[in-house]
Amino acid sequence: MTDSRYNVVVIGGGIVGLAVAREITRRFPRSRLLLLEKEARVASHQSGHNSGVIHSGVYYKPGSLKARLCVRGAAAMIEFCREHGIPHKVCGKVIVAASEAELPRLEELRQRGQANGLAGLRLIGTEELREIEPHASGLRALVVPSTGVTDYVAVCEKYADLISAQGGTIHTSAAVTGLKRLSAEIVVETSRGEFSTTSVINCAGLFSDRISCMAGDDANVMIVPFRGEYYDLVPARASLVRALIYPVPDPRFPFLGVHFTRRITGKVDAGPNAVLASAREGYRRTNVNLGDVASFLAFPGFWRMAAQHWRNGCGEFYRSLSKPAFVRALQRLLPEVHDEDLVPGGSGVRAQALKRDGALVDDFQFVSSGRMLHVLNVPSPAATASLTIAQAIVDTAERDLGLA
Ligand SMILES: Cc1cc2nc3c(=O)[nH]c(=O)nc-3n(C[C@H](O)[C@H](O)[C@H](O)COP(=O)(O)OP(=O)(O)OC[C@H]3O[C@@H](n4cnc5c(N)ncnc54)[C@H](O)[C@@H]3O)c2cc1C
Repeated sequence: MTDSRYNVVVIGGGIVGLAVAREITRRFPRSRLLLLEKEARVASHQSGHNSGVIHSGVYYKPGSLKARLCVRGAAAMIEFCREHGIPHKVCGKVIVAASEAELPRLEELRQRGQANGLAGLRLIGTEELREIEPHASGLRALVVPSTGVTDYVAVCEKYADLISAQGGTIHTSAAVTGLKRLSAEIVVETSRGEFSTTSVINCAGLFSDRISCMAGDDANVMIVPFRGEYYDLVPARASLVRALIYPVPDPRFPFLGVHFTRRITGKVDAGPNAVLASAREGYRRTNVNLGDVASFLAFPGFWRMAAQHWRNGCGEFYRSLSKPAFVRALQRLLPEVHDEDLVPGGSGVRAQALKRDGALVDDFQFVSSGRMLHVLNVPSPAATASLTIAQAIVDTAERDLGLA
């Protein structure tokens, strides 16, 4: 027996699931849509624990989904915030090369940004860097004027309001526990009862591979949780940072390196690092989920990743345990920052898909299977690009799932 019938069920009330649900209610106003979120509130995980940056698209390989959806998505996000009165600011950022070895990579980033269509990119020297960020230090820097900041929890809440206003239904505290594919429908079992639907879109973030398995599909990837820990600059020292100061990222990893972010609230934070977590929702070092650990160890790609990246992983772990080491990484960008200027801040856990061959999936990835679509890799800049990711996902669902 099912309680209710829907045309489409979206699993996950993070920014991607909400943006997808909003796009469906806009495009198909007569469809019956249900969004299921296991927590009591939307945006309880990645979407509510991020840096709040509207990324410009400078980092991503030209032609990739990340590049295309981020550049258009950033403009769409700014427009959305403007239209709905959500606090935001296009403050720009500097990416700083702290050593000679980083200079060629900084130039590569400039070229990537240009290829991705970003306007106003400029390489500058020490003097001009000091005019923009008086306390930053580096040999050269890339100015990225289109980067901004916003409040993604407010964005998620607005998406939720718009879904409800368009007739969609959102159930929170509704964890999906099973998916049964019948000949004409899919039965979604949840902690709040069963629902039947013709299509399912899985946007379950840190659990998207598990939901895919629940549906009988082999995700072919495993979601690996990488915790990002922050320190906050104490208010008396917040004036050290005007906007956003980033290092040149290591191209072998999908993470940007610890940086400074002046958030939309004015608070300045430092981080996040990227430490392999021992639980999918492991916000603290002490959070260990033995089931999660066992599943990582049983996945062949995990050992291949460990063999390739153990040195970097140990470095991140050390910087997580040792505040002086974390501070030293920050001092490459801002020599005046000291241990006593920083107090522990929050943390977030990134869902990063890992392939069987040990490679971290670089681009966004969505996979259709029958009447289901699994969103398996939407790491940063997915909050920025949520509106354009949603368009791409709903286009795919229209084509592959016959969503109409
Ligand atoms: C530390 C950090 C910093 C970041 N900084 C930025 C940034 O500055 N800019 C940017 O653009 N991006 C940033 N990102 C990336 C961005 O936050 C994520 O890419 C984005 O939030 C992913 O959204 P999501 O909806 O896929 O995932 P989530 O927000 O994690 O949502 C998935 C939802 O699915 C729910 N769910 C899981 N299992 C079930 C189930 N069985 N039943 C029902 N519901 C379920 C979860 O409870 C969760 O709410 C950052 C991420 C982190 C972690």
